Amino acid sequence: MERLEAHIRNIPDFPEPGIQFKDITPLVKDPAMLKLAVHQLIHPFLGKDITAVAGMEARGFIFGSLAAWELGIGFIPLRKPGKLPYDVESMSYDLEYGSASLEVHIDALEKGDKVLLVDDLLATGGTAAASCELVEKLGAEVVACAFVVELDFLKGRDKLAKYNIHSLIHY
Ligand code: AMP
Repeated sequence: MERLEAHIRNIPDFPEPGIQFKDITPLVKDPAMLKLAVHQLIHPFLGKDITAVAGMEARGFIFGSLAAWELGIGFIPLRKPGKLPYDVESMSYDLEYGSASLEVHIDALEKGDKVLLVDDLLATGGTAAASCELVEKLGAEVVACAFVVELDFLKGRDKLAKYNIHSLIHY
């Protein structure tokens, strides 16, 4: 994990003063680190009969689609409002900086689906909690949430108390 952590760049005061932004671009640029991160993300869930990976726009798409590929299953994009062309379910939430909402196509998942949710980073947990609710609105089950980075001091894990949380790097 130290090798992965060495490829996370800290950008102070981005996108606004007081935020320590954890930049994952050095990690995804490095093929060995990208492979290591994706393998570590999915490792606990091998053999758990996961049927889909859902990932949040935009950095969740990078790790989520690679996780889905490695697991041999499909990827469900949870998108920013107005991007999906078909009928959607949506969910609003608060961010560490600002507020937002996410949407999913109503036929993206169904009852019986067992979903692994993937994003780059868990901060306050608002994004992940809304994402879990979206998945559940479609009748699917959230088996676990997996993150490359978790900011422990923001206690996002508390907001996701009823879910299994797997994070690779903690700050
Ligand atoms: P939250 O809803 O507070 O858990 O925020 C998580 C989402 O916001 C993730 O999709 C992250 O990509 C992004 N995010 C929040 N805080 C940071 C941070 N300090 N560095 C990088 N990304 C962040």
